[in-house]
Amino acid sequence: MQHPVVVIGAGPVGLAAAAHLRERGRDVLVLEAGASAGAAVSEWGHVRTFTPWRWIVDEAARRLLLEQGWTEPGGDVPPTGAEIVAAYVAPLADALGEAVRTGARVVAVTRAAMDKTRSAGRAAQPFLVRYADREGREHDALAAAVVDASGTWGSPNPLGAGGLPARGERAAGPFLVGPLPDVLGADRARYAGRRTLVAGLGHSAATTLLALGRLVEEEPGTEVLWAIRGADPARLYGGGEADELPARGRLGADLRRLVDSGAVRLLTETRIEELVPGEATVTVLGRSSEGPFSLEVHQIAAATGFRPDLAMLAELRLDLDPGLEAPTALAPLIDPEHHSCGTVAPHGHRDLAHPEPGFYVVGMKSYGRAPTFLLATGNEQVRSVAAAIAGDLAAADAVALELPETGVCSVRGAEPSAPGAGADAACCGTPEPVDPFHRPLPEGAVAVGFATGAAR
Ligand SMILES: Cc1cc2nc3c(=O)[nH]c(=O)nc-3n(C[C@H](O)[C@H](O)[C@H](O)COP(=O)(O)OP(=O)(O)OC[C@H]3O[C@@H](n4cnc5c(N)ncnc54)[C@H](O)[C@@H]3O)c2cc1C
Repeated sequence: MQHPVVVIGAGPVGLAAAAHLRERGRDVLVLEAGASAGAAVSEWGHVRTFTPWRWIVDEAARRLLLEQGWTEPGGDVPPTGAEIVAAYVAPLADALGEAVRTGARVVAVTRAAMDKTRSAGRAAQPFLVRYADREGREHDALAAAVVDASGTWGSPNPLGAGGLPARGERAAGPFLVGPLPDVLGADRARYAGRRTLVAGLGHSAATTLLALGRLVEEEPGTEVLWAIRGADPARLYGGGEADELPARGRLGADLRRLVDSGAVRLLTETRIEELVPGEATVTVLGRSSEGPFSLEVHQIAAATGFRPDLAMLAELRLDLDPGLEAPTALAPLIDPEHHSCGTVAPHGHRDLAHPEPGFYVVGMKSYGRAPTFLLATGNEQVRSVAAAIAGDLAAADAVALELPETGVCSVRGAEPSAPGAGADAACCGTPEPVDPFHRPLPEGAVAVGFATGAAR
């Protein structure tokens, strides 16, 4: 009997992987930690994305859904996270039926009866996927192949510089509200008339700042501080009208206006060193370009990016870039040290492979610590990976990727800490590779990416 392919995570990419595998006649089991499919997207359900539906819906998922009489969402208005779940992820999980098991958190993956040190006969051994159910009871599932699509939403980066939490950050947990609090909706009372610090230089930070900017207008006494590690926020202001995704271009332009209006106090070259929790406020100690500071705020929105949870993969033989924690072949294509906005060439099963045959990390998690993942990329990843698992190497190798342009996309040499590095970014199109690690885009391919996350 052939074991199923286990997919970890019922987010949009995990479910798309399942649709491709099912189309190829493979038995599939999707294990989802949350109470329902799309649990991570639901947590940022109030946020409107910048990607219209055509960049979201996977082709195999579409075919499966249309068989069920699905009404395909469309139009140029990007959906919110909640709309993605309601109109796409939840119906897709329903269409996959019992193949999707919720309340099933994967805690470890290994080869059955074989630890990491053993090589002889390794590839012939099935995988063993251990997961915990809602009651905390552990179960083992055997798998012919494993596709890890568990995202990175559950592992946010800490506030402190150097990759470590700031001193006292754990104890200050009640004052940390995550990257995307529902400032204008459910959580409004927590922010109205109070002082909030937003840390980070990505789209999550921009989204939260704009929502807080509205509160500054509507609720007297609301104060907003914005801390970035770099010297200049210009990179986040983006390509404006040159962005092929208008919602994304507008986000940056609106943020620039908000900061210029003085409604947000910007701290540049910020290092947050210590958090000291008090009764109703937390004191933030650190230094910025203006010198040492001590700030008392009611809450902190840490929009400092995400990192992959690799603990559950500790018994597998992985080939990861030591810095980005993305597959070694993929890392140079997305490294924010070199790509000002996350250009990416088409990539598939070969770039996503590990020394552990039959194991792949896909979707948001495949980008490791790089912040520029787009769903359309994940859909092409899983099309290729499913074909490879099914043994159709011709289809698996025929990778193609068409993605929207940003208007600010460039590929350039790394200039760590270059002040204003984002401001001079060239326009998209076909960026020239600047070093041997950067793969030229195939002729006609569109570069894609958006400014986010790191210092450039
Ligand atoms: C606020 C926000 C806005 C974004 N906007 C866009 C956009 O406009 N356009 C775009 O293309 N992309 C956007 N992205 C990026 C990306 O496309 C999304 O994050 C997308 O949800 C990634 O899909 P995924 O399936 O890889 O991961 P996720 O959606 O994170 O799904 C992972 C799933 O795995 C589950 N899981 C986690 N750990 C385990 C475990 N151990 N065991 C079992 N299950 C587990 C989670 O509960 C979750 O359901 C956005 C991201 C964010 C955060």
